[in-house]
Amino acid sequence: MRIRAFYDRREPTISFEFFPPKNDDAEEALFRDVVPALKDLGASFISVTYGAGGGTRERTFRMVHRIIRDFGMQAMAHFTCVSATRANIGEQIDELHRLGIENVLALRGDPPKGQAEFRPVEGGFAYAVDLIRYLKEREQFCIGAACYPEGHVECAVKHLDWDRTAAKVEAGAEFLITQLFYDWSDFLDMEDYLKNKRGLRVPMIPGVLPFQSTEQIKRFTLLCGSKLPGPMRRKLEDYAGDDESVRQYGIEVCTENCRRLLDHGAAGIHFYCLNRTPSVTQIMKNLGLSP
Ligand SMILES: Cc1cc2nc3c(=O)[nH]c(=O)nc-3n(C[C@H](O)[C@H](O)[C@H](O)COP(=O)(O)OP(=O)(O)OC[C@H]3O[C@@H](n4cnc5c(N)ncnc54)[C@H](O)[C@@H]3O)c2cc1C
Repeated sequence: MRIRAFYDRREPTISFEFFPPKNDDAEEALFRDVVPALKDLGASFISVTYGAGGGTRERTFRMVHRIIRDFGMQAMAHFTCVSATRANIGEQIDELHRLGIENVLALRGDPPKGQAEFRPVEGGFAYAVDLIRYLKEREQFCIGAACYPEGHVECAVKHLDWDRTAAKVEAGAEFLITQLFYDWSDFLDMEDYLKNKRGLRVPMIPGVLPFQSTEQIKRFTLLCGSKLPGPMRRKLEDYAGDDESVRQYGIEVCTENCRRLLDHGAAGIHFYCLNRTPSVTQIMKNLGLSP
């Protein structure tokens, strides 16, 4: 099933994002414990990230394939331009096709470790929009793309970044998933611009990251250029070192944000669950969304 079709349903589409674990034992544990728990929680689909540099490609694609084959769920592979020539990307497209994967989140990708900024390889793509065009030419994928309620961290003018988001939709992206954000007015501003100034009609799905620890949330938001509103930052500092209180506070914040976004009409929520279930299970329960 093409993921775009999920977003046309009346009920919210809830998806969860995994990163590929480092080894086979951890992958097996994920399939034994986490995937069934998310299925029971009513997940519409699971997406699997693509590690910087393409090093996880095999595991990413294999995990997506296993989720579809063994659990009868939908799954989406993230796919980036990092360190890949057009020919490499062509081979990966063939592999996706062979594995029966039809849903892809097309990204430029973050620079590989040790590289300060993104540099396309010779014969590769510089921007996600180029990858989307290429995917569109090659196969009948259902393609999603990333968007940034506060603008992408490398782009000084958020409206310019949003124009580039619009270009990704014009090139063939059928839905957008946001970077994490904690001030919902940023989402409303971006949505207003993309819908009313740029005329986009695709679903824009908020990406939500529950908290694990003060240190972690500060590091993640710094990396992706998302801000932590003042009162939230102060509370996180107060709880620093007490991870369980931070986690509970994250459940409270994310429940409130999800409720507002769904009441506002968001077609779904994409949880950055970091391969864990406790926080998202509680948030789903609070929202009255778990079966
Ligand atoms: C939901 C989600 C999932 C993600 N999953 C992964 C993952 O699995 N693996 C991974 O490595 N990363 C992942 N990322 C991170 C993503 O790769 C980074 O944010 C990356 O820095 C930008 O990717 P993009 O696809 O948005 O790039 P692009 O849309 O190409 O934008 C990158 C930058 O280039 C600028 N730009 C775009 N087009 C042009 C143009 N024509 N001329 C000049 N500048 C331009 C944009 O404004 C922006 O600053 C994910 C992000 C999100 C939101």
